[in-house]
Amino acid sequence: MDRFHHMINGEIFESTSGRFLPTYNPATGEQTGETALASVEDVDAAVAAAAAAFPGWRATSLAARTRIMYRFRELVDANRAEIARRISIQHGKTLPDADGEVARGLENIEFAAGVAANIAGRFTEQASTGIDVYDMRQPLGVAVGITPFNFPAMVPLWMFPMAVSAGNTFILKPSEKDPAASLYLAELMNEAGFPAGVFNVVQGDKIAVDRLLRHPDVKAVSFVGSTPIAKYIQETSIAHGKRVQALAGAKNHMIVLPDSDVGLAADAAVNAGYGSAGERCMAVSVVVAVGHIGDPLVEAIADRMKGIKVGPGDDPSTDMGPLVTREHREKVASYVQAGLDAGADVVVDGRELEYEGDGFYFGPTLVDRVTPEMSVYQDEIFGPVLSVVRVDTYQEAIALIDHNRWGNGAAIFTRDGGAARQFVFDVDAGMVGVNVPIPVPVGYYSFGGWNESLFGDQHMYGPEGFRFWTRNKVVTSRWPDPATSTVDLGFPRND
Ligand code: NAD
Repeated sequence: MDRFHHMINGEIFESTSGRFLPTYNPATGEQTGETALASVEDVDAAVAAAAAAFPGWRATSLAARTRIMYRFRELVDANRAEIARRISIQHGKTLPDADGEVARGLENIEFAAGVAANIAGRFTEQASTGIDVYDMRQPLGVAVGITPFNFPAMVPLWMFPMAVSAGNTFILKPSEKDPAASLYLAELMNEAGFPAGVFNVVQGDKIAVDRLLRHPDVKAVSFVGSTPIAKYIQETSIAHGKRVQALAGAKNHMIVLPDSDVGLAADAAVNAGYGSAGERCMAVSVVVAVGHIGDPLVEAIADRMKGIKVGPGDDPSTDMGPLVTREHREKVASYVQAGLDAGADVVVDGRELEYEGDGFYFGPTLVDRVTPEMSVYQDEIFGPVLSVVRVDTYQEAIALIDHNRWGNGAAIFTRDGGAARQFVFDVDAGMVGVNVPIPVPVGYYSFGGWNESLFGDQHMYGPEGFRFWTRNKVVTSRWPDPATSTVDLGFPRND
């Protein structure tokens, strides 16, 4: 059985707590390893290592930092199949899905390597006579990232490449459910040449998180996870004087207008609803069918669902892997039952999937005629369950999104440019797709939702990522009158 400990100061650091949590292969249901859960002392050791590394790392030239980040980029790229394999066997997602998350992570590393252009300041000459003003962005110190199970490589890569390039030192606290990718990334960071203590990994649960949020030497906390925990992270970090951004849950809507190409919209809904078994914060979970498109759209989605092959993530013929844990599968199933009990029409029921063995499988599910008061609509299910809400008008569709508590992603499908433009203007969400169901911004924009999908103000990665990981310093300077300079500048001397 594999045991996943911490990486502190460039070395494996065995947990002192004696507490462990099982990790599973979701495809078989077997326990394959265990995650060490940090003690307060373990966390303190990581913070001490990161704090000790900070002065030297901060003083390292941008040129040197950039070169090391490029080496890291090459190593991640060269080992992407191995990273994907480690993700798949603990998370359950298919190898192409896992490879896709590494590809998106690589974009963030590439953007981070452009640190010099992204933290450059401004200079104003002669703001007043003899006075120049300039500013610069400086790192914060020890930075922390706390990440969810669903993207064990990509979400950490949304954070630490930018933080570290900007001169911070970093502690990653990954999800205890799938710790393998985090440790492998740490090995590659060491191999790339990051000095000891610049990047550390602490495995753990609430005890580790609570210590990180309260430790006086931690300066900034970046979090991605569920809404209740995000709120808690934000409130606790602020109470302890830390900068914080906490990305949270979602319920992403995809509006399909009556003029849409039904086949295109159905393909998009299937890919965005069931990809990665719906365990994506940008997954589409509500299709809003406007007007007469409801019937043909539901039929086209149901038709395509017949072709989705559920199986182990490492089987090349698999389209959709298992869910992450047995408990999560039971929770997802309970929402389908609740929808049925509330009067929704379960067109395809994932509970009926037959599968041999103890894997955490759940079939793709389509629930039609869902209404906003049903729990299947209200809650984030985070599984392969697509709800269809039928409305008569575009205004009703927009009102649904407006009244939803979250605002991560939203998409519209239409062939009408004016309607699409109006949607972009109207919609209450941070990331918007036009005929694109999962509008995750490319690495040189920033990722972030609105409303209860983000607690804090800066979005993650891209330009806002660098702003989050740095603080501004403004210098106002005056040098002596050139006529009094110790060097003869050709001015008439007045001393
Ligand atoms: P989670 O909130 O359970 O866990 C996230 C992190 O918080 C983990 O590292 C976990 O160890 C820690 N944690 C859990 N409970 C805690 C507690 N009581 N106190 C302190 N720390 C605690 O989330 P998850 O189940 O791992 O991930 C799924 C959630 O993440 C979904 O809600 C999904 O929408 C969200 N998510 C959001 C985004 C986004 O960009 N908005 C991206 C990915 C995932």
